Amino acid sequence: MESDRQPAPTPLADVTLIGRHTQQRTVVVEALIRADGFVGAQALHNRLPAGGSPVGLSTVYRTLTALANAGRADMVRDTNGERLFRYRPGTDHRHYLICTECGLSRPVDSDPVEDWADTIARTSGFANVRHTVELTGVCPDCELGT
Ligand SMILES: [Zn+2]
Ligand SMILES: [Zn+2]
Repeated sequence: MESDRQPAPTPLADVTLIGRHTQQRTVVVEALIRADGFVGAQALHNRLPAGGSPVGLSTVYRTLTALANAGRADMVRDTNGERLFRYRPGTDHRHYLICTECGLSRPVDSDPVEDWADTIARTSGFANVRHTVELTGVCPDCELGT
């Protein structure tokens, strides 16, 4: 399956996509992009730049969830059940294998999953069919205990 590749939207476009554009949401989206990996809402909140109008943790949660729902972020859960988010630069969505020990994440080939999901979407009569697939394990470094 060829996926439609589109130019990566700007953070501001993403903020508009998830609703009312606010300075706080912009700050959250920009922080998520800078995080460059999976990060929890609390951790991201800790990284927000000081100064300007303060952004509450609940705003961070809402913005991250809205981004994920809009397809602009990937979401997984760590072993404690905490939701972790990662910015998705384009519409080309990916699946990751995540180390439960250190949080290392690497993209994995997911063509069979995408083909299966596309088939379900085409034949089910459902609109906006989405899927979440999480792969977790222990990376080689953690397995060796280094
Ligand atoms: Zn690891
Ligand atoms: Zn997928």
